[in-house]
Amino acid sequence: MRGPGGVREAASVELLLVPHFQTTPYTIAVYDLMHRPGEMREKHLDFRVPEGYGNAVIGVRTDAPMRIDARLESLHDGILVSGDVRTVIDGECVRCLTDVKLATKVEFQELFAYSVDEAFDYTVRDDHVDLEPIVRDAVVLSLPFQPVCQEDCLGLCPECGVRLLDNPGHEHEARVDPRWAALAGLETLSDNEDTEEKR
Ligand SMILES: [Zn+2]
Ligand SMILES: [Zn+2]
Repeated sequence: MRGPGGVREAASVELLLVPHFQTTPYTIAVYDLMHRPGEMREKHLDFRVPEGYGNAVIGVRTDAPMRIDARLESLHDGILVSGDVRTVIDGECVRCLTDVKLATKVEFQELFAYSVDEAFDYTVRDDHVDLEPIVRDAVVLSLPFQPVCQEDCLGLCPECGVRLLDNPGHEHEARVDPRWAALAGLETLSDNEDTEEKR
């Protein structure tokens, strides 16, 4: 006999069986290296970032390509992981507000200890190392505070808002409509002051 209630109960029990360690694109199995000091292996990870990080102005966006070239070395007290991560940073130029994409490469190195000891920040868990927090920290620390589309970006025209790099020789002609002459005279005066200050 199996009533609908019984089936539902079995299904909910199954859903509760969540493993306490979950592999992600950032995790690497190291059981073949554990407790075999001197052993070494390389591992390359290629994936799309499952969840982006950074701030509103700049960061690694969800689905950005990421490649991690890691070298794993078995030591007496754990696994030493060193390598570099390459990804694409998305941001906004602080001067002209256009979208900026920067290819970046950051190095990292960290020891994953066998023992859960306060002396170590990271540990081998269930025969795996999880590079996510290390990669995240390394990339976030490398983000430029003031991203610019190019070093000599001139920003936006304070008067009309066009991007000055796209409009070389950009300038505003004096207004000719006589009805606005008086006002134009005033604005030209203040514009000149602005221009002087920026030079
Ligand atoms: Zn710019
Ligand atoms: Zn303008």
